[in-house]
Amino acid sequence: MTARIIDGKLIAAELRARVGAEVARVRRESGLTPGLAVVLVGSDPASEVYVRSKHKQTQSAGMASFEHVLAADVAQRDVLALIGQLNRDPAVHGILVQLPLPKSLDSEAIINAIDPAKDVDGLHPSNAGRLAGGFAALSPCTPLGCIILTRTVHASLEGMNAIVIGRSNLVGRPLLQLLLNENATVTIAHSRSRDLRQLCARADLVYAAVGRPEMVRGDWIKPGATVIDVGINRLPGADGKTRLVGDVAFAEAVQVAGAITPVPGGVGQMTVACLLVNTLRAACAIQGLPPPAV
Ligand code: NAP
Repeated sequence: MTARIIDGKLIAAELRARVGAEVARVRRESGLTPGLAVVLVGSDPASEVYVRSKHKQTQSAGMASFEHVLAADVAQRDVLALIGQLNRDPAVHGILVQLPLPKSLDSEAIINAIDPAKDVDGLHPSNAGRLAGGFAALSPCTPLGCIILTRTVHASLEGMNAIVIGRSNLVGRPLLQLLLNENATVTIAHSRSRDLRQLCARADLVYAAVGRPEMVRGDWIKPGATVIDVGINRLPGADGKTRLVGDVAFAEAVQVAGAITPVPGGVGQMTVACLLVNTLRAACAIQGLPPPAV
């Protein structure tokens, strides 16, 4: 039996449509147009693609989109000055600094300078701490997307055994907290974990966020488990181009899992959709409006 394929592209499109409808309602009822500002430093081609996609999708959802492109050799104080200006700008409700930043810049200081109320990437220590404490917080977008995808398979995650492989601030750690909020029983694994295969084999939910192509093999997966593959790895393709693969050996895992996300077409599509959700939520909170229905 092969697993059900979780169609991230379709689920993300539905989510974006719901955000668009909520943005229209909020504007109609209160005159508020949520605004997202994206700061890109340098000209990394992959980052430029992400920023263009964010700009397009923000506008399609009926929100205002502000792009700030800075030279790769920009001074730290100039980035901080821009963040300060965006923090004060009433038309901006979400601020995202595209990572990674050039090595000459202090990323931590820049992220820390963002007003936590506008921190739609959920990386400010205030939001990370609130999430860890079980309080309402703006959560990082990729883990939020992982939860939404899982909930398309399971109405409730209560009592399920989950494993998160990877403990980055961007994915693994916030995902652990979001799964706890869903009342799952969570194991978090990393490069020093022992017997990863055995840890995986008892999990009903497997989240791979490692950055190692096809590391999680099919025979690690418990039959019927739900597998969410966060990994995006570029490998040389047969035709000289690159091809994308996840952190899970898809062709093997699809034979064993109950449901699985493909790469591409799985988690990746959800990240920007969740950024729109966070921007709308931030705008409503800043404006003192009730939380939106997304
Ligand atoms: P990261 O910061 O490099 O973290 C990788 C994590 O994997 C670390 O915690 C590391 O452990 C762990 N790890 C490395 N080798 C391992 C091994 N052999 N066994 C078990 N754990 C191991 O990466 P990230 O930013 O979390 O991203 C992870 C993957 O997700 C990447 O492929 C990235 O491209 C992708 N990603 C996708 C999206 C999306 O929108 N779909 C968004 C973000 C990231 P240590 O902590 O011990 O070093």
